[in-house]
Amino acid sequence: MRATVMYSAGDVRIEDVPDPQIIEPTDAVIRVTRACICGSDLWPYQKMEHRDTGRVMGHEAIGVVEDVGAVVRTIKRGDFVIMPFAFSDGTCVFCHDGLQTSCIHGGFFGTTEVAGAQAEAVRIPLADGTLFPLRTQADDALRPSLLTLSDVMGTGHHAAIIARVTPGKSVAVVGDGAVGLCGVIAAKRLGAEQIIILGRHADRIALAKDFGATDVVSERGDAAVEQVRELTHGYGVHSVLECVGLEQAMNTAISIARPGGAVGRVGVPQEQTIPRSEPAFYNNVMVGGGVAPVRAYIEDLLPDVLEGNIEPGRVFDRTIGLDGVPGGYRAMNDRKAIKVMVKL
Ligand SMILES: [Zn+2]
Repeated sequence: MRATVMYSAGDVRIEDVPDPQIIEPTDAVIRVTRACICGSDLWPYQKMEHRDTGRVMGHEAIGVVEDVGAVVRTIKRGDFVIMPFAFSDGTCVFCHDGLQTSCIHGGFFGTTEVAGAQAEAVRIPLADGTLFPLRTQADDALRPSLLTLSDVMGTGHHAAIIARVTPGKSVAVVGDGAVGLCGVIAAKRLGAEQIIILGRHADRIALAKDFGATDVVSERGDAAVEQVRELTHGYGVHSVLECVGLEQAMNTAISIARPGGAVGRVGVPQEQTIPRSEPAFYNNVMVGGGVAPVRAYIEDLLPDVLEGNIEPGRVFDRTIGLDGVPGGYRAMNDRKAIKVMVKL
């Protein structure tokens, strides 16, 4: 089969690789019908050291089950499924807590150990716990939004949950990438009254407004902090969704939280330390979050997707075939595309 293989920063190729096989009796193999490129794929795209064996990329997909191992019970051949970016057994203590990304038997797709989903097919470890089967025949028009439940929509929702968004609250979303935009959807869905998007790309801002953003701050650093304060009676916001991962974004996030507020961080951190420890302490700002257990959120978010109440699939502004994936990485890295969908 064909798959996307990254060898080093900037070196992404489409190559023939062996077809995925059932290895463990708990595995499944799915034929991928839609995959996508993630903002977090851009970190290795910018930084990865050369590896002779390469890395099959991709951790977001929907598809059809082609084969299942001998002990797989709930997933059947022909099922249409959502593949969350982490695999999990669904039975351990952390899975029971709804934190499948910490599953004691789990792991992540698109790593050097487990092949990814920017490919014609992918092996799914722990299929019963990992895959979410859709019992309805999903309309083609819904597929982009269903695909976002494998990562970005669940991740934006996680940021909103950790930041304690509830009806009537003021919210700021730091970052206008696909996760930030989904964070706007999540904040609106949870009843936020004011949603301030911090971003500077016209197309993304327009989408954020469509999704429910009430205010836009396009400055950065101190100027951004000042503007958010002006929009919130000088106090700052109740909830901040940090959807970037860079130090400056976290700096801003903590600075615009009001005393007693919360920062939900879902941007993959590119630093080892969290800045602004002292102001966070004196303002009792809770800083939490991390890798989102999107598997836990599918059940909750799915009805709103199926009913068309939320349309996170609108974050995809470019659709390509597998051969277009290297160009898709370039487009996202150059900020010429918000998020690229791969149609197989
Ligand atoms: Zn588990």
